[in-house]
Amino acid sequence: EYNDIATPSRTKQLLEQYGFKFKKSLGQNFLIDTNVIRNIIDAAGIDKTSGVIEIGPGMGSLTEQLAKHAKHVLAFEIDQRLIPILGETLSPYDNVTVINEDILKANVSEAINAHLSECDQVFVVANLPYYITTPILMGLLEQHLNINSYVVMMQKEVGERLTALPSTKAYGSLSIAVQYYTDVKRVMVVPKGVFMPPPNVDSLVVKLTTLDKPRVQVEDEQLFFKLTRGAFVQRRKTILNNYMSLIQESKVHKERIMEWLEASGVAPTRRGESLDLNDYANLANNMKKYPE
Ligand code: SAM
Repeated sequence: EYNDIATPSRTKQLLEQYGFKFKKSLGQNFLIDTNVIRNIIDAAGIDKTSGVIEIGPGMGSLTEQLAKHAKHVLAFEIDQRLIPILGETLSPYDNVTVINEDILKANVSEAINAHLSECDQVFVVANLPYYITTPILMGLLEQHLNINSYVVMMQKEVGERLTALPSTKAYGSLSIAVQYYTDVKRVMVVPKGVFMPPPNVDSLVVKLTTLDKPRVQVEDEQLFFKLTRGAFVQRRKTILNNYMSLIQESKVHKERIMEWLEASGVAPTRRGESLDLNDYANLANNMKKYPE
């Protein structure tokens, strides 16, 4: 239990031993607080039958605790300079696989089959590289992988967007996309001081629990996401004006768009931020009836 990696002294010692310099461009802010890690592990609810995917193990601070609690840990780390460090810090554990790949390019589904097929459920647990939080989460969610839940730390503002409800400032197409696939809960706010080096922003740990089926029934997911994104292109404009710009390729004119909005129960003067997932699902499912 001792010799935890997530302490200032152990982290400094490893940095010196390997002459490691942080790369800001890779979002390298390492956790140096064992309490935060314990809270993340508790929120994840993993046990010895669980497989865990970690994105960005860094020097292994979270990974070692995951290894203690899970059946197997599969960690994707892009920075090859960290691979020998992880080789040392994780040497006490025989249930960790580190893959030196960019998570955005990796074949995660294949890696799950190769390394976590013996596990009863699969979880994602990570202190994410903040600069690519959205592509990582959306990429994994859109693949409909068999992932039970995600406990992920991110920039506080982004975490607030994931949990936001309609008619709030943080609500937007990202809130809708994540809430379409998952149930979202705040776990805890994490201050800058528990990282080395400290980031410029506060952080939030969020838990996303995958729904058995998406929250609303949508015939054409691509259209649904196009409409949710299109509604926020100009936040302060009405839904009618945003959709008149979005649906330019067709000859649908104002009257047809108004008819479609009204038939879907959405007043044309409303703003995108006041519509919930059901409203967008209705719009997407109704649209076919209103061709040019
Ligand atoms: N888990 C460690 C911790 O909490 O101390 C490190 C977290 S740090 C915020 C993010 C990690 O993600 C870094 O180790 C960084 O090198 C890695 N990373 C950045 N971009 C990545 C990518 N595209 N694919 C995989 N890992 C990446």
